[in-house]
Amino acid sequence: MEREFSTWFEPEARCGSHPSRAAEVACGRCGGFWCELCVDRIERTLCEPCAAARMQERLPTVVRGAVWKLMLAPAFAVTSAGLLTSRGMPPPAMLSVWLVPVACAALLLFTRRSAFAWVGVVVSVGLLGLQAVDALDDEAWRRLSDVAMLSVAPLAAVIDCLRLGATERRMVLLLASA
Ligand SMILES: [Zn+2]
Ligand SMILES: [Zn+2]
Repeated sequence: MEREFSTWFEPEARCGSHPSRAAEVACGRCGGFWCELCVDRIERTLCEPCAAARMQERLPTVVRGAVWKLMLAPAFAVTSAGLLTSRGMPPPAMLSVWLVPVACAALLLFTRRSAFAWVGVVVSVGLLGLQAVDALDDEAWRRLSDVAMLSVAPLAAVIDCLRLGATERRMVLLLASA
């Protein structure tokens, strides 16, 4: 459905919700004509309902992204604890705390609430921070670089947290305006 760009802005094009206002944008999703008031504030090429719908469509992808980012460091912690134990050494004392981000990842998968993602990120970064301090104390540079690498995933999950939060706020606004 190719439309001539010029016809989008014909003087008679009116907003679908505000007939008294001239349409300024043709939504890239529903194709409706909308005035400045009806255009989404963030996604300027979409109307508000379509921007909300697109965010909802992307939600499962964002959730999956956050879940694997939260699982990476605990998986590594458990693997290295297993190696230590197999060599007859005691597992690290903090090992069980890694269950927190794992639980957060599971809760996030089922509820899609950004709060669980945030808790998972904060606990993961806190644990990795403690391990970094520990490695610095021992001057264990190899361990320090492992910790730094493992920190990338939970820190990258912050972006997913922000996206999830934005989707939640949008849903609240939509419910309030409905
Ligand atoms: Zn639309
Ligand atoms: Zn309008």
